[in-house]
Amino acid sequence: MGKTTGFMEYERLEEGYAPVAERVKHYKEFVIGLDDSQAKIQGARCMDCGTPFCNNGCPVNNIIPDFNDLVFHGGWKSASAVLHSTNNFPEFTGRICPAPCEAACTLNINDDAVGIKSIEHAIIDRAWAEGWVKPLPSSRKTGKKVAVVGAGPAGLAASQQLARAGHDVTLFEKNDRVGGLLRYGIPDFKMEKSHIDRRVEQLVAEGVKIRTGVLVAGKDGLGEDSKVTNWAKETVSPEQLMAEFDAVLLTGGAEQSRDLPVPGRELKGIHFAMEFLPQQNKVNAGDKLKGQLRADGKHVIVIGGGDTGSDCVGTSNRHGAVSVTQFELMPMPPEQENKPLVWPYWPIKLRTSSSHEEGCEREFAIATKEFIGEKGQVTAVKTVRIEMKDGKMVEVPGSEQVLKADLVLLAMGFVSPVQAVLDAFGVDKDARGNAKATTDFTGGYATSVPKLFAAGDVRRGQSLVVWAIREGRQAARSIDEFLMGTSDLPR
Ligand SMILES: Cc1cc2nc3c(=O)[nH]c(=O)nc-3n(C[C@H](O)[C@H](O)[C@H](O)COP(=O)(O)OP(=O)(O)OC[C@H]3O[C@@H](n4cnc5c(N)ncnc54)[C@H](O)[C@@H]3O)c2cc1C
Ligand code: SF4
Repeated sequence: MGKTTGFMEYERLEEGYAPVAERVKHYKEFVIGLDDSQAKIQGARCMDCGTPFCNNGCPVNNIIPDFNDLVFHGGWKSASAVLHSTNNFPEFTGRICPAPCEAACTLNINDDAVGIKSIEHAIIDRAWAEGWVKPLPSSRKTGKKVAVVGAGPAGLAASQQLARAGHDVTLFEKNDRVGGLLRYGIPDFKMEKSHIDRRVEQLVAEGVKIRTGVLVAGKDGLGEDSKVTNWAKETVSPEQLMAEFDAVLLTGGAEQSRDLPVPGRELKGIHFAMEFLPQQNKVNAGDKLKGQLRADGKHVIVIGGGDTGSDCVGTSNRHGAVSVTQFELMPMPPEQENKPLVWPYWPIKLRTSSSHEEGCEREFAIATKEFIGEKGQVTAVKTVRIEMKDGKMVEVPGSEQVLKADLVLLAMGFVSPVQAVLDAFGVDKDARGNAKATTDFTGGYATSVPKLFAAGDVRRGQSLVVWAIREGRQAARSIDEFLMGTSDLPR
């Protein structure tokens, strides 16, 4: 273990942020990570409690006590090896994972959790800086061909694992760049895209063939109502893929945004978050866009209190919005969870993101009744307060309000994967329209269609990057087993 008495001697140290006034002027990352000596002290806080709930709380089951101990003793290169043994992309999770591991940390029962995510961040940044992250091409080739459809974190992790097992992997992506929601959802100020580009180079050196701008779909394409990002120049049919490849993995995410069909929805100035956020990421990448959707000089209302909404807040402030207000339907959660009641699980509590700190009015227990407009353009939002009565959410009489709005961003989550694509493959779906597949140790991630697998948000519904990585890794193992009868890939 790190230091026997470390958890009693040292306090938790949070990563720092650049000042608000400075960081809102740009789209670059602004987190100030721990330096080596700070990370060492934070590693010393790990008690090596013997029952590492953190390891279970982490969806990829990172071997957290081991890397904490290694960092404390200066074994950075070994710490990087331990980290990579369970996680293909720790630089993604070290930046944007909400860290369920820390909620599960034993020290969190009556003290501040070990800063696991900040230690992960420090290890992987050092590993890249030292040149320890290298391509690991397979020394044997199996001759089996696998197609992966969708290059988000699930597709990237699966492709890397399958290529390392010696398979011939082709990764198809409808957008012009790979990364999925990491690329075109999550803003650059949370995670710069050079981290994805570096991994793409590694994947290519390991033999993965990447085909961007290729939509895999049937005759109905993405379907009529789909408003998902699509810069495809070419379409490949499911039949072609199934005929050409020995196995196909669907990792297309759950991109269908939840709509708000209240009166006035047709007005101009009301957009899905996923129309707004990808455009800014494209501009940051140097693309020229005509008529970019911008928040400059506008009163912005963001509907949806989650991560996506928070990303709209941060982006609107960087554009120079006059005001930004975020609505959440649920009542304001408590600032502090009841630890004995919820530990080691993920607690519901008030979370204030760095984007909120940059300027935002947060309204809880509020519902949108109507969008009001003039000459076809939204000018205001009519709201009502909500309360719980007899276990039901009801409107508070007389609580209607009208709030000024020039731009409304809908960030209420995602309902399902694009149905037309799943239908074209003919897969069975679960009750929420996701591709149906179990996560069983043997035969997991297999859909109802022979040799067709599914992983990530397309299977589990809207989730987290770390879950997508886990599912991509596990599906790769399942496919390897399906193709070879046995697999040495870790789960
Ligand atoms: C704005 C926003 C912020 C978020 N912030 C966080 C966060 O801070 N932390 C966190 O952990 N998670 C966050 N998430 C969630 C996280 O990004 C997703 O859970 C994760 O990216 C899912 O990974 P995936 O690989 O399953 O799918 P995706 O990332 O959605 O990738 C799917 C890819 O498949 C492609 N594709 C789909 N269909 C086809 C097709 N038919 N043919 C070819 N290509 C196709 C898509 O273009 C896309 O590139 C956020 C999500 C959003 C929208
Ligand atoms: S990936 Fe997320 S849950 Fe796992 S150790 Fe890192 S921060 Fe914690």
